[in-house]
Amino acid sequence: MSSNNESFVQRDDPSVYETAEPVLYAVADGIATVTMNRPGYNNAQNSQMTYALDAAFKQAIDDDAVKVIVLRGAGKHFSAGHDIGTPGRDVNKSFDRAHLWWDHSNKPGAEFNYAREQEVYIGMCRRWHEMPKPTIAMVQGACIAGGLMLAWVCDLIVASEDAFFQDPVVRMGIPGVEYFAHVHELNPRIAKEFLFLGERMPAARAYQMGMVNRVVPAAGLEAEVMAMAARIASQPRMGLALTKQVINRIEELQGLRAGMDMAYGYHHLAHAHGQLLGAGHLGGHDAKSMIKANKKNAEDE
Ligand code: ZN
Repeated sequence: MSSNNESFVQRDDPSVYETAEPVLYAVADGIATVTMNRPGYNNAQNSQMTYALDAAFKQAIDDDAVKVIVLRGAGKHFSAGHDIGTPGRDVNKSFDRAHLWWDHSNKPGAEFNYAREQEVYIGMCRRWHEMPKPTIAMVQGACIAGGLMLAWVCDLIVASEDAFFQDPVVRMGIPGVEYFAHVHELNPRIAKEFLFLGERMPAARAYQMGMVNRVVPAAGLEAEVMAMAARIASQPRMGLALTKQVINRIEELQGLRAGMDMAYGYHHLAHAHGQLLGAGHLGGHDAKSMIKANKKNAEDE
């Protein structure tokens, strides 16, 4: 064995999926509805779900009958974020990738997370943000950390009154989730408050900040989203696509892409720092300890 190969490690993949359908897909009246379907785990996003989302979006783009895409979560919550602790956590698994970063699963050191998150987090989110058809996130309940990334890549966000938004990863020693759009979604001072405190931002405040388009009572959420989608679906496909392209390009000129690339480097310094300290890339945290800290925070408020 060459010395080069010795640094490669194959990690065990202990993941056990609770469903073969982590994403549901339906089309009606020009609207594709893509539903994250792990309600038992508050739609925690594992790679299985990530690739199923990507396949569903591709199907919607390829179908000329689809004009608008709605992204929603089954159950009480939109998304609890990236899967950091369900039996279906599949970070060590190898997948047929959508981007050109190499397979992460047998890579040593910081390369493992760097390559993996290029593909499944920042790469996928940018790819979904660039879909030429309009997208609407329909958000109820929790939209936490990785869940923010899924809502933010959509063109419009409609939230129910009970929805809240939160990025608590500073507790892990990490400067925000991988798709760092915080200072574009919020102004810099509010973004600092959002990250430093890691508190829940209620839908009403997110609306005041311009982060969500509309807030409606939970019982009316679906009707509101579908009515908006139906109106958009009556517009010409190219008109919508070109409008989206223009606004996305201007977001890039405003620094979204370059800022995110820079933040991605800091994000991975944080992952590597946790590992150098022997605490792991999440700074010694897992789903349980994050929920516990979150509860304590809520009690203190
Ligand atoms: Zn990360």
